[in-house]
Amino acid sequence: NDPTNGHATSSFKLPSINFTKLFINGQFVHSISGKEFETIDPRTEEVIAKVSEGRKEDIDVAVKAARAAFDHGPWPRMPGAERAKIMMKWADIIDQNIEELAALDTIDAGKLYNWGKTVDIPGVANTIRYYAGVADKIHGEVLKPSRELHAYTLMEPIGVVGHIIPWNFPSAMFAVKVAPTLAAGCTLVLKPAEQTPLSALFYAHLAKQAGIPDGVLNVVPGFGPTAGAAISSHMDIDKVSFTGSTEVGREVMQAAARSNLKPVSLELGGKSPLVIFDDADVDKAAELALLGILYNKGEICVASSRVFVQEGIYDEFEKKLVEKAKAWVVGDPFDPKSQQGPQVDKKQFEKIISYIEHGKREGATLLTGGKRVGGKGYYIEPTIFSNVKEDMVIVQDEIFGPVMSLKKFKSIEEGIRSANNTKYGLAAGIVTKNLDTANTVSRSIRAGIVWINCYFAFGNDIPYGGYKMSGFGRDFGLEALHKYLQVKSVVTPIYNSPW
Ligand code: ADP
Repeated sequence: NDPTNGHATSSFKLPSINFTKLFINGQFVHSISGKEFETIDPRTEEVIAKVSEGRKEDIDVAVKAARAAFDHGPWPRMPGAERAKIMMKWADIIDQNIEELAALDTIDAGKLYNWGKTVDIPGVANTIRYYAGVADKIHGEVLKPSRELHAYTLMEPIGVVGHIIPWNFPSAMFAVKVAPTLAAGCTLVLKPAEQTPLSALFYAHLAKQAGIPDGVLNVVPGFGPTAGAAISSHMDIDKVSFTGSTEVGREVMQAAARSNLKPVSLELGGKSPLVIFDDADVDKAAELALLGILYNKGEICVASSRVFVQEGIYDEFEKKLVEKAKAWVVGDPFDPKSQQGPQVDKKQFEKIISYIEHGKREGATLLTGGKRVGGKGYYIEPTIFSNVKEDMVIVQDEIFGPVMSLKKFKSIEEGIRSANNTKYGLAAGIVTKNLDTANTVSRSIRAGIVWINCYFAFGNDIPYGGYKMSGFGRDFGLEALHKYLQVKSVVTPIYNSPW
């Protein structure tokens, strides 16, 4: 059983890797220490490239460049329409490089190439266009104070923004952080995840081609405790936006508080429920549940990792779900037939396998999956546990892999209680034809986004982010733009000043 179908490296022309250094002040430069780290292809477990390793001293240089670009450069000062024009050009150039970018994310993160080509990378260009479209519509308001005063607000860019992003969506994460930051007139330093630095460096190169001025957009690959921590604790970064695990989010917030009290937004882990009611179309619901956990091999913070099914359809649902899971194609992400590629790296692969073993020990029933696929590459079978108890580790912890917990429920109230029985609150799904049920449940679930009869329905204009320990602040939509703006009130007397 060869998950690569014999052509992990042969049948597809691999992308050329031209950008492996730090992108600071419009130039690709070596790290000050000269150190490099390896980035690995999870299909083959082989080294793709060596990338310059940024550390604190490199972050310092990048922040100086971003500071100068913010304090003295044209970007925050140019009319929003000018920024928009450059961003639109960048989006067009990205569109001309879709295949190369998609292939980079496939070899770096194990993502399905076809999805990258048709969804992720065109999505990057469209996210940039969405925020370019608002760059010239940022304004404050005229206020009506109680006294004889004229007052208005200015929406000012917050300054130099630090971004720390994860590896599961190297492109979409880059876009959703960078595009609103640039539209707001800020400058930035971004650290991609150490597992997936390649596409971010390519986007930076294309940004320069589009005319984004030097120093505005800096990309510094490196590790979390060094380069990442240097961002969150930096005295001259005005805001930090982080997406990643809840544990690291806590550290980022602490570092921000201990340094210059920079505002923080955190998009953290999830253990999202999908609640399926008796009136659902069982076949479609099973498909949705499977996609909800297996899309991007479960490496998505909104994965529907806890599925609750009402008792009337439970048995039929379970049967269909298992059939579909067994037919799911795990294989080389370049192969158009593949539905699931390898997990991102060895650490993640081993973590998932150890959770599966833990689930078995805890007494959950392994309905299907549970094993590695093939002998090379980090492929894991779609895995479904039933007979779970809600306090089991596999039901409470975010596994970030193709592992679902399935549980039966009786009443709507029980379904809601189970859905909310988690420290997380990122997303939730409901499947029902009953409008009352949909309304009641969607308002009762504590999560930042609730999908009714769909899952993963994202849009540039749909804000999403966490309740509870899934963090705070929203990505996408105008909400995200406001993370990178701050309000200044300007007040003056209308008549002679009374004081
Ligand atoms: P995951 O567990 O999904 O790998 P992490 O939260 O560990 O997610 O990583 C998300 C991002 O946070 C990565 O870019 C990583 O390098 C960075 N990171 C990890 N540790 C720290 C830290 N102590 N401070 C700042 N950033 C960090």
